[in-house]
Amino acid sequence: KLSKRLQTIAGYVPAGARLADIGSDHALLPVYLAERGRVSFAVAGEINAGPREAAEKQVKEAGLAAVVSVRQGDGLAVIAPNEIDVVTIAGMGGSLISHILEEGKGKLAGVSRLVLQPNVAEDQVRRWLLAGDWVLEDESVLEEDGMFYEVLCAGRRSDSAERNKLLYARKTLDDSLALESEELIRFGPILIDRADEVLFRKWESELEKLDKIMDGMSQGGTEAAFQRRTELMAHRNRIKEVMNCLQ
Ligand code: SAM
Repeated sequence: KLSKRLQTIAGYVPAGARLADIGSDHALLPVYLAERGRVSFAVAGEINAGPREAAEKQVKEAGLAAVVSVRQGDGLAVIAPNEIDVVTIAGMGGSLISHILEEGKGKLAGVSRLVLQPNVAEDQVRRWLLAGDWVLEDESVLEEDGMFYEVLCAGRRSDSAERNKLLYARKTLDDSLALESEELIRFGPILIDRADEVLFRKWESELEKLDKIMDGMSQGGTEAAFQRRTELMAHRNRIKEVMNCLQ
C-alpha cells in the first residue's frame, strides 16, 4: 500500500498528465499512478544506479514499461523541454529540491505544475517558487508514523491569475494577524490560512525539539554558545507567537 505521504502527492497529479518523478527511488509513485491509468506517461528519474535498477524491476514486474520510462541522471537532466506536464520531487531536503529546480530551469518549459515534498527547509522551496514565475496553488500538511510532511503544489503564475487573487486575499488576512512575509514563507501561506490541527501538532513537535536542543546546551560557555542560545530562544518565541495568532 502506498504511504499516506505519497498518496497525498499523487492526489495533486491531474488525470492524464505526463509526469516526471525526480528522485523516484523504487518508482512507487509513477507505478501507482500508471497502474490506475491516472498518467498517460511517466518518467522515473534517479541519480543513483541502485535505486534506478530497483525502479526498472518495479516497472517491469508491473508490466508498465510502455508507460513508465526509468532514466538515470541528475535532477531534471532526464527530461526534455515540453515532454512533461507535471514534475514531482519528494523525500529530499528543501535546499536539494530548490537546487534541482534551479539547475534544470530550462527543462521546465511546458511544465504547468510542480508537486514538491521537502522533508526539511520547506521555506527554501517556497522562496524559490516566489522568486520565479510560480505560485503556490495548494499546500498540505500530514502526519505519518510520527513524522510531519508538507506537500506544496505550485502552478505557473501567468496561468493562475484567479488563484493569485485568492492568495492576495489571504495575504490581507495574514496582515491582520500581523504575520510577516518571512513567517508566511516558513509556515506556508495556505497552511496558515487553514490552520489545521495537524499544523499545530507539527509546530508543537518543533517546539519540543527546540526545547531538547536548548536543554542539552551548556548554560555558561563561550560568547558563540550564548548567541546560539539567544537565537534558538527567539526562534522558539516566534513560533509560539505565530501559533497564538492562529488560535
Ligand atoms: N521520491 C521518493 C519518495 O518520496 O519516497 C524517494 C525519496 S528518496 C529519500 C530520495 C531519492 O532521490 C534517492 O533515491 C536518491 O538517490 C535520489 N536523488 C538524490 N539526489 C538526486 C538528484 N540530484 N537527481 C535525481 N535523484 C536524486
